Amino acid sequence: MFDHLHIPRFVPHESDTIKHVVSISGGKDSGATYLHALELLDGDFIAVCADTGNEHPETLEYVERLHERTGGPKVQIIKADFAADLARKKRFLESGKAVSRTHKPWTQERVDAVLAHGLEATGLPFLDLCRSKGMFPSRTPAFCSQRLKRFPLLMAQQPLLDAGYSVFSWQGIRAEESLRRSCYPMWEQSPDAENLTIYRPLMGWTLMDVADIHRRHGLKLNPLYGMGFERVGCLPCINSSKKDIRLVAQLFPWAIEKIRDWEQEVRAASRMSCSTFFHATTTPGGDGSPVQIDEVVRWSKTRRGARQFDMMAYFEPPTSEVCVYVGGLCE
Ligand code: SF4
Repeated sequence: MFDHLHIPRFVPHESDTIKHVVSISGGKDSGATYLHALELLDGDFIAVCADTGNEHPETLEYVERLHERTGGPKVQIIKADFAADLARKKRFLESGKAVSRTHKPWTQERVDAVLAHGLEATGLPFLDLCRSKGMFPSRTPAFCSQRLKRFPLLMAQQPLLDAGYSVFSWQGIRAEESLRRSCYPMWEQSPDAENLTIYRPLMGWTLMDVADIHRRHGLKLNPLYGMGFERVGCLPCINSSKKDIRLVAQLFPWAIEKIRDWEQEVRAASRMSCSTFFHATTTPGGDGSPVQIDEVVRWSKTRRGARQFDMMAYFEPPTSEVCVYVGGLCE
């Protein structure tokens, strides 16, 4: 369907003036982008992964060992730090301005409760970001991807830009994934810096193209796909499908406990004390009230508008690298 986009494109090699930076998430498309860069640039590129603090250990291990399995460059793992944001929030609450402001004023009771609970950084970027904002990300805009991935990546590229290089930022986005993604250009001047160009080399790629390049390099996919997950990213992601939420609950109950703890921590740092990890519309048919993690997990095990339990939820999901991902990517 997207063959018309398969046009050989000139990609300049790294040089005295050009640097290529490939974003890695641990997913199949970023893996394909890394391998594509390996083929086109003979390994002359920098690979960077932003650890959100909400990653599965398998994903971090997969990213950390990508160079061993491919012969490409080692992926630099970077992390955002929100200690300054939390310290700023603490100063704001202590100043009394939160109570006196006209727009969305705090009650003195909430200010006292939040300060008593504490606003020290935990070092987990996802949690600290949400505590500093007093809320979990909404779907649009998802401030998590901006603050936990886009901005750290920009910070990693900044020294290259400051040194006078033109930077090509490679992103593994494919048009066939969604209508929205199909609208992205393959090349784009970044709004963030003059000498920064965003390059999306997989725009015309199909799932089979992604499978083929993994096969060519003998690189297995992130094992999470083999366990049945549709997407690899945060565990869970605010946009996780019903099936992925159910799989998280079945395979990694510790991740649900983590989100339960995080919901308490973010509520303890919020003005209204009512934020939840998943958006209210995650579980259709609700009254728009926030839905806490245990209720979302319960819904994930139902079907037919949550009126019936899904029998599949009672069976053990696969835990080894079984090919359950559409397209036969896990060999
Ligand atoms: S929760 Fe989802 S949208 Fe947000 S940073 Fe993680 S993977 Fe991206």
